[in-house]
Amino acid sequence: MQTYRGTAASPGIAIGPAAIFRKSTLTIQERTLNEQAVGPEVERFRAAVGLSKQQLEAIAERAERDTGEETAAIFRAHLLFLEDPAIVDAVEERVREGRRSAEAVVAEVIEEQAATLAALADAYFAARAADVRDVGERLIRNLLHPAGEGGAGEGRTGEIGEGIGGGGSGAPGVVFAHDLAPSDTAQLDRRMVLAFVTEAGGPTSHTAIMARAMGIPAVVGTGELLARVHEGETVIVDGGEGTVVCSPETGLLTDYRRRSDAAAARSRGRERLRDLPAETTDGRRVELAANIGHPREAGPALEHGPDGVGLYRTEFLFLDRSTVPGEDEQYEAYRAVAEAFGERPVIIRTLDIGGDKEVPALGLEREANPFLGWRALRISLQRRDLFRTQLRALWRAAAHGHILVMFPMVATVDEVRQAKAALAQAREELVAEGKPCGSAIPVGIMVETPAAAVSADILAREVDFFSLGTNDLIQYTLAADRVNEKVAYLYDPFHPAVLRLIARTVEAAHAAGIWCGMCGEMAGMVEAAPFLVGIGLDELSMNAPALPLLKEAIRGMTAARAAELARKALDAESGARAREILAGKAGD
Ligand code: PEP
Ligand code: MG
Repeated sequence: MQTYRGTAASPGIAIGPAAIFRKSTLTIQERTLNEQAVGPEVERFRAAVGLSKQQLEAIAERAERDTGEETAAIFRAHLLFLEDPAIVDAVEERVREGRRSAEAVVAEVIEEQAATLAALADAYFAARAADVRDVGERLIRNLLHPAGEGGAGEGRTGEIGEGIGGGGSGAPGVVFAHDLAPSDTAQLDRRMVLAFVTEAGGPTSHTAIMARAMGIPAVVGTGELLARVHEGETVIVDGGEGTVVCSPETGLLTDYRRRSDAAAARSRGRERLRDLPAETTDGRRVELAANIGHPREAGPALEHGPDGVGLYRTEFLFLDRSTVPGEDEQYEAYRAVAEAFGERPVIIRTLDIGGDKEVPALGLEREANPFLGWRALRISLQRRDLFRTQLRALWRAAAHGHILVMFPMVATVDEVRQAKAALAQAREELVAEGKPCGSAIPVGIMVETPAAAVSADILAREVDFFSLGTNDLIQYTLAADRVNEKVAYLYDPFHPAVLRLIARTVEAAHAAGIWCGMCGEMAGMVEAAPFLVGIGLDELSMNAPALPLLKEAIRGMTAARAAELARKALDAESGARAREILAGKAGD
């Protein structure tokens, strides 16, 4: 028996035979072309781009059918790479200027793009490097095998299909791979996959995202493992713990089977909660909302029964492209989400870029301290052209649903006043132009700087609601960069300073008669729920798959007991102690 640890990427327990998936490698030869061959080489490249697009469209359709919109969106994003001049024009230019063969140039350009993405501080965007490489590999396969034989289309499907199925037995198996590109993952027959285990990747890699969307347990980033696992040997994957056990002892196997059955029963039970409110047994109701980053995520999010959208990160509309979206495009996107949610509230956050989120189309300068620099509302208040376009789009969309607006990274009351004035002005313009728009949009701010939390009583007079952005609030409070692994030990949601700032913010909101929610990752942590309910948060917004878990936790507690635990946690001397108290392990 051998136990390996990785990153818990998608919860659930799987037991079954190991199926090792190895990708074939591509051999690329650099060729120098003579003058006459250059034109046809460019044509050959264009044909490969066309073929790749056709394949991706087909895969996106299939993914939509089999695994839902979220997965399909990944391949639609791949299609955008094939329209990006930084890739397509760059390849053509280098083929022409260097008289080089297309495969070699594609490999070079793709690697440059991937390296740029991988260097980004934000884990989500860094993980997109794998997507660019996936697209590059498809292009190269299509250049090498344009007829499809062994190419990136059906030939590739077969190749992957052969890699799974419980050691060749045809039974479902646990897929072990070094890394899985999104197109590999989507083409695996989900009935044959019990779990994924990959040597590479982090929790925001697409394997992880797709595994979560497919409801398949996954452990990623185990480090070297393929050499030690034998095809067909029995393995246990615990996607919640991030562990993989090879050839487990009988006792452990029995124990895991029991846990797996119990988890399946619990999950079935949670499905029944879908349309019930998140209400404590003594009657306190908490709104549970979903965080989304794209209109395509609205449909899958609704399946988990959210009360609304607590955070729509609009910046995702601005990424992976060379120009910024105009007013009409933004209007369509916001309207789509508002309509999908009907009467349910949708909180749309204005652009939050800078810091760790880069928008190539804006060409922002690199800064020494990006998290302390020109980001979010600070950019919007200076780039008034961008802000005005977004606010106009919001007002127009507000005619079609229940939209609220939220400003990110507020530090001063003056910023809030300026943002509100810009919002009011955008409506005046639309009315003067005779364009239909909403009649009123409630205004909120993210409380994610210590400045905002400490002066929450002042800010509360200006707005209709607060939403605590703990992802940033924690990093600023503890002076610990949220994406720097070396200081990750300091990045603790339960640190007394963080808990106190959160409690203080909620208190200030309620004293001013406004509501307070939370949309940072902490909102989706079951272990934080007694504290969050106990201090009186009105709304919690999280990744949609976490909603049933939080609903179950809230429906299983009393607000009175939660308040008592929260009070004690606020007096704890450390994050570790606060966790014990909230888990009911403090011996009281
Ligand atoms: C936050 O900071 O908690 C938040 C929700 O915003 P983001 O993660 O987009 O910075
Ligand atoms: Mg933030």
